[in-house]
Amino acid sequence: MKTLKCDLCEHEAQGDTFEGWIKALMPHYMEAHADVMKSKEGMSEEDMKAEKEKWMVENKARFEAE
Ligand SMILES: [Zn+2]
Repeated sequence: MKTLKCDLCEHEAQGDTFEGWIKALMPHYMEAHADVMKSKEGMSEEDMKAEKEKWMVENKARFEAE
């Protein structure tokens, strides 16, 4: 089990795998960073996909390094 901080604040989430960590982080993300999610609402589907992929790559690297 790995413990890794949220990429936006000091909140910690745990997961055995990167996917598990995302699952544990999501409820926090929705609640604490709803404004961030909302700011992406106006994005095109393409930009949204690119953003999501970038987020996954960055956070997976953080998870692997932990
Ligand atoms: Zn957070």
